[in-house]
Amino acid sequence: MLSRREARRLNGALLRQRPVREEYMSIHKNAIDSIILGVEDYNSTDPRRLLSATRNLVAGTMLLIKHKLASLSPPGTDEALLKERVLPEMDGKGGIKWKGKGRKTVDVQSMEDRCKSLGIDVDWQRVRKIVAHRNDIEHYFPSLTQNALRTLVADSFIIIRDFLRTQLNEDPLIVLGAPTWTTLTGVADVYKKEKDECLANIASINWDFSTVQDAMEDWQCPKCGSGLIDVLNPKSDKWDAHLQCRACGTEYDFETAAEAALGDANASHDYYSIKEGGDPATVICPECTHDTYDLEADHCLICGESVERSCKQCGERIPASELDGSGYCGYCNHMMSKDD
Ligand SMILES: [Zn+2]
Ligand SMILES: [Zn+2]
Ligand SMILES: [Zn+2]
Repeated sequence: MLSRREARRLNGALLRQRPVREEYMSIHKNAIDSIILGVEDYNSTDPRRLLSATRNLVAGTMLLIKHKLASLSPPGTDEALLKERVLPEMDGKGGIKWKGKGRKTVDVQSMEDRCKSLGIDVDWQRVRKIVAHRNDIEHYFPSLTQNALRTLVADSFIIIRDFLRTQLNEDPLIVLGAPTWTTLTGVADVYKKEKDECLANIASINWDFSTVQDAMEDWQCPKCGSGLIDVLNPKSDKWDAHLQCRACGTEYDFETAAEAALGDANASHDYYSIKEGGDPATVICPECTHDTYDLEADHCLICGESVERSCKQCGERIPASELDGSGYCGYCNHMMSKDD
């Protein structure tokens, strides 16, 4: 471990090593300013500033990554790596140079593609999580509380800390300053301790399918967005499980929680699959009527029921949308109903 003084010196040296180009240094400054402001908002007693806290923290996190992309863009390319539009130009020496065009910067997906291609290591799952969480907060959680916001603060903290250290070689304590840093670490430590308790309680129950347990572990409260979903009666039978959000107190029974958690877990798979004409991960279970019939595993993740997938009349595979538990495909069902 370095002493603080040594760390500061090392940091100063690292900063001096880099070519100082004004435009990308200002992205760095904006990133740090946003994060500091976001933490001030979070610490404020004014509930209206909590919305501003989410915007600033997420914006600051994204700006840190953009700063890295800007700093890696070759000189004279107008921050090509940062721009959504990149066009080739003759460089006057018989070669071609890719130049960034316009003001629009890359979206999250393009940032991810470019970083991956450049070997810049970022926890993208967590990045997508905070971006989605911020959107949810803007649209669905009108009465935001500091307690509910801890999930987003803790997630942002992990991305910011790791990115500063491993990608920018900066000491987060020094760059962010002690007040911001101690708030972030404090929130993240308490959050982690509570999350671990919740996870242990979730793991104490036999959910029959690991898919269900995984979804429960990642589930965020639909009422407030907190990731602290606890089981009030650990070790109980899954059908008796009593779940509760630690941030807002909303209670959920097993069936409600499992259906919602699986829906959230499959949301992005379903989005891409349906866009390409495929099936969703789950359909309505003919037995228990929850949207938890897993098409790939061929059983319901709540009631465990497995239904006939080949039509008893024509022998064809029954399309997912026609699974009604009758054992016939939609066409044969239709033809048979005409006969009588
Ligand atoms: Zn809640
Ligand atoms: Zn079922
Ligand atoms: Zn049939």
